[in-house]
This record gives sequence, structure tokens and C-alpha cells, in this order.
Amino acid sequence: MNSTSKNIFLFVAALVIVGVVFATINVNPTKRVDISTIIQDVQNGTIKSITVNGASIKATLNNGTKVDSTKESTESLSTVLKNYGVDAKKMRNIKVDVTEGTGWNYWLGVILPNVLPLLLIFALIWFFLRQMQGQNNKAMMFGQSGAREIQKDAKDKVTFNDVAGVATAKEELTEIVEFLKNPNKFTALGAKIPKGVLLMGSPGTGKTLLARAVAGEANVPFFHISGSEFVEMFVGVGASRVRDLFAKAKKSAPCIIFIDEIDAVGRQRGSGLGGSHDEREQTLNQILVEMDGFEPNNGVIVMAATNRPDVLDPALLRPGRFDRRVVLDPPDINDREQILKIHAKNKPLAKDVSIRILAERTPGFTGADLMNLMNEGAILAARKNIKEIPMHLLLESIEKVLLGPERRSHVMNEDERKVTAYHETGHALVAHLLPHADPIQKVSIISRGRAAGYTLKMPTEDRLMRSKSDYIDDIAVMLGGYAAEQEIFHDITTGASSDMQQATQLARNMVTQWGMSDKLGPRTYGQHGDMIFLGREIHENRDYSDNKAVVIDEEIDKLISDGLITAKKLITNHRDAMDRVADKLLVQETLERREFTDTIGLPPANPKNLMQPNT
Ligand code: ADP
Ligand code: MG
Ligand code: ZN
Repeated sequence: MNSTSKNIFLFVAALVIVGVVFATINVNPTKRVDISTIIQDVQNGTIKSITVNGASIKATLNNGTKVDSTKESTESLSTVLKNYGVDAKKMRNIKVDVTEGTGWNYWLGVILPNVLPLLLIFALIWFFLRQMQGQNNKAMMFGQSGAREIQKDAKDKVTFNDVAGVATAKEELTEIVEFLKNPNKFTALGAKIPKGVLLMGSPGTGKTLLARAVAGEANVPFFHISGSEFVEMFVGVGASRVRDLFAKAKKSAPCIIFIDEIDAVGRQRGSGLGGSHDEREQTLNQILVEMDGFEPNNGVIVMAATNRPDVLDPALLRPGRFDRRVVLDPPDINDREQILKIHAKNKPLAKDVSIRILAERTPGFTGADLMNLMNEGAILAARKNIKEIPMHLLLESIEKVLLGPERRSHVMNEDERKVTAYHETGHALVAHLLPHADPIQKVSIISRGRAAGYTLKMPTEDRLMRSKSDYIDDIAVMLGGYAAEQEIFHDITTGASSDMQQATQLARNMVTQWGMSDKLGPRTYGQHGDMIFLGREIHENRDYSDNKAVVIDEEIDKLISDGLITAKKLITNHRDAMDRVADKLLVQETLERREFTDTIGLPPANPKNLMQPNT
């Protein structure tokens, strides 16, 4: 806007100057007379000379006076004089000087009056157009990628040191870093560097972080855009954003383009999943076109991240596109320790804090969960005005991250408390008495998130493989709450619903995915994406007959009912232990591991569970 008004001002100023100049030229110190006076003077012979220029006539009288007049520009002076009946002889004494109207004075006089209004109109139109553009600036910028660019040498640079664990992924990416740092070394040997690297891993495993770390390590610019940002309400925007992004990146090569959550645009085309979305398909096509359109060695590397590689369009995974795939595993205990250390860096920890124990207590946590855990600990400490974060607050944060914040405000009536106490005791007792179940860390009847109470079981180690007998015991533990309610109150509350969901899902997986049913044998039923471990299953392709479907149902039913029978038997056989634990829970609401084993007064079925560190 500022520059527009300046332009307008300049334009008007120029007009004024031209006008003034024009006026000055025309201003004549001579006397203005009409044509008949001149004719009269010619008749009288008082004129010495006449200068004709177009329509203007300038005459000098014998006495030196200068007069000025105009005639019709189309008629010559002689015609005019003749028309007035002036004697031709009179003219002989007069010096007539005809300068044809070629001076720029003349042209200005002819053209300016015609052109000026036009110029003004154009100026106005131009002015309004400019203004409209200013208002619609955003609309005009839709086609731009909107990618956030992180310059090299940025202040908040992330390097591999900020990423703990994921050792294999880092190793694979080191090669990319090498290439970005020193492309010639590779091209000299005729090596082709992959154009595309696809980072795969569950949410929170550090995909985004790792991509930034690659850029930081290589010290190259980093263009970051999220898949969903390509798709806006206007059709065609996505494709033009892709074009813009690649054009920008090519200019600053070597660099990294990072498309986060690429599944938002990279879904299999025409799969009907999420509706056939034309805009998305066009965007995806454009990405494919751009990736084919540059040579692998010109220094642009496209990285993308997803937690749903199973839904990606096969075209994206074809050689020459994202042919390098890097899997980020969930952290194991040592990784967790390292990650926790990274996030403990600028937090003052109390003397009693043991990062190793925190790592032991957090199997299944991702990097993001662990970051969250340290952060929650710091927040809790700040709220209590403690200068250093103590261990017990960090342990409390584990549960907060796992289950949501405690809801002490939710007041349960006496009946609800009693049912909850027996329900949780049911889970805990069954877990305690089954050899393959994970040991109990904590039992509580304080509501957390949506659960009325909770029983924390923690595997003693990270286990990659689990067996059928583990799962059979797990189902019994899951149904322990339900069994307790039924055995003790002869009634069922809604508190058991999520337990049942979990148990059913586990039984279904055992039967259909893991070949753990004798009747159905070692095959899978239903095609899920090839990587169920990375995300939830959305769709299932049924690849079995109706007869098999009946058997599947029967087998699931059997696993569930066997589990329930096991749980009920344990609960009825140890009714006194149930009462002891439940009573204590009603008094103090929470039992830690040691208190629980002391109260229950029974040896654990798995002696290994006794030797676990108790903190
Ligand atoms: P994703 O993109 O895989 O969902 P992010 O990269 O966004 O996960 O991770 C979220 C946050 O969790 C990161 O900003 C980082 O602070 C933390 N984090 C995740 N993984 C790690 C790791 N391996 N090392 C250190 N911090 C991590
Ligand atoms: Mg991410
Ligand atoms: Zn339960």
C-alpha cells in the first residue's frame, strides 16, 4: 500500500509539472487579437511579418508590436485571407513564415488533451487493481508451498546428539549426511544416492526430530512441510504447492525437503479410503512427477515420514522415489535411558533420581512419551515450589502420561468405591497368581483419565516375542475385574467394558493373526496392512469363508470363557486374600508393589516376580 500511494503521488506530480511546462510555453507576452483584426491590419498594410504555425498566427506590426491570433488549423493563411477578400498584392510586402506544426509544443497541444483523460483512467484502473491485489494477497499466495525453511547454521539446530536410540536408523542416515556434505566424493565414483528416504515408525518415535537432525548434521537448508498442508480448500493448490516447494529447493541445493505425515496425501489412490479425493490425488501425482523430474545427484533429497506405511500408494515406494526406507523402532531400556538423559539436560534433578529406574519403569514409552514424562515432572515440581525435581514426582508423572491425570475431584460414593476396590483387586490377584502374567507395580482406586481405578502391570524386561501362554494369562488378568464383580456382587458394572474390549481384541489377534488356535491352524485370517504394529488397523480384507468365520468366533469365545473361568476360580479360592487387599485399598486408595505382596500374603506364581527391584 505504501508504495502504491507513493506511485500515485509521483504520477500526479509528473502531470502537474507537464501541465506547468505546457502552460509556460503557451504563455505569450503578446497581445491577443481575433483573426479579423489581423486581416484588417493586412488590408491597412501595417503588418511587417507573419509567422504561421498550425492554427496559431503571430504577427509583428510595423511599429514592433506583436499580436497573436488563431485561425482554423485546416485552412491555410492564404485561403483565409482570400476568403476575406484581401488583395493578394497587399501580401507581397509582408514576410510570411510558415512553420508546419511539428514542434513538440504543437504535438503536445494536439495530443495531450486527448491522451490526458485516457492516462487518468488507466491510472485509476491500475490503482484499484493494485489495491484489490493487496487485499487478496493471501489468495494469490495459495500456490506457494508455505514450507517452513530452516536455514543452515540455524540457532536451534538439531543434530544426531539430540536423538537417542534408533541406532540403525541413524546409521542408515549417516550415508545421506555424508552425501549432502560432500556430493563429489560419491558422484566421482558414479554412485547414485537415493532421492527419497521414508522414515517409518509409530507416533512419537522421533521421525520429525531425526529428519531435522539429518539437515543439522549435514548443515544444509531444510524445507519442512506437513502432508496435510498441501491440501487446502481450493482445487489445484496442492499440486502447485508441490511445484513451488521443489522449485525453491532446487535453487538452494544441496538441501532436504521433508514431507511430514506423508500419508495425508500419499494414500493409495482410488482405494476409497477416506473417499476418493481428487485434490489429494493430484497432489500426489505432482510429488511423483517432481521426484522423477530431477536427477538423483543434483543434491536435493526428499525425506518423508509416516506411521502408516501400509496405506501409502505403491507408486511412492517404487524404486527411484522413496526407495530407501528407514524404520524407527520403539526405544528399548537403554534407549529410554539415553532419551531421558537428553530431556533431563536443563532440568535440575534431585539426588534421589535414578534415570535407570525410570527407564525400567517405562517399557512401551516412545521418545515423545519420555519427553512428556520429564516435562510433567518439572511442572509438578514447579507447582509444589520444589527447586529440584524429586524421584517420586517423576514416578507420578509416569502414571500421568500413561493414564491421564488423577481425578481426585471425582467423588465416588461408598458403593462405587467398594466395587472399584474389588474390581482392581481382581485384576491384581489374578496377575499375582498366574505364572506368565506381568508383575503388579501398583493398584489404585483413584480415578485416572476415564478409568475408575487402575492396576499397573509392568513387564520386567522389553520383550520382542511373547508366547501363547503369556496371552492366555493376560486374558485371564484382563477379565479379573469382571470376574470379581460377578463373584462378589453378583452384578456387573460398566467399569469392565474396556477390559472386555481389550480381551476380545487380544483373543481375536491370537486366533486370526498369530496362529495360536489349534482348530484354525497356522494361517492368518483377514488381510491387514502389512505393518499392524505401527498403527491401528482400519480396514480388514476378508479372505476366508463364512464357515471359517464361525470357527473364528467359536475360538475367540473359547479363549475368553477359559480366561474367565481361570479368573473366577482364583478369586473364589482366595476370597480372604481378596478381602484383605480390597479393605486396605478402601483405606489408603493406593498400594505400591511391596505393600500389595505383603497384604495378599500369597507367594507369586512366578518367583522371578519377587526379585524385581521395588522402588
Ligand atoms: P514423530 O514425528 O515420530 O511423531 P517427533 O519427532 O515429533 O515424533 O517426536 C516428538 C518429540 O519427542 C521430539 O521433539 C523429541 O523431543 C522427543 N523424542 C522422540 N524421539 C526421541 C529420541 N529418539 N531422542 C530424543 N528425543 C526424542
Ligand atoms: Mg512427526
Ligand atoms: Zn478393569
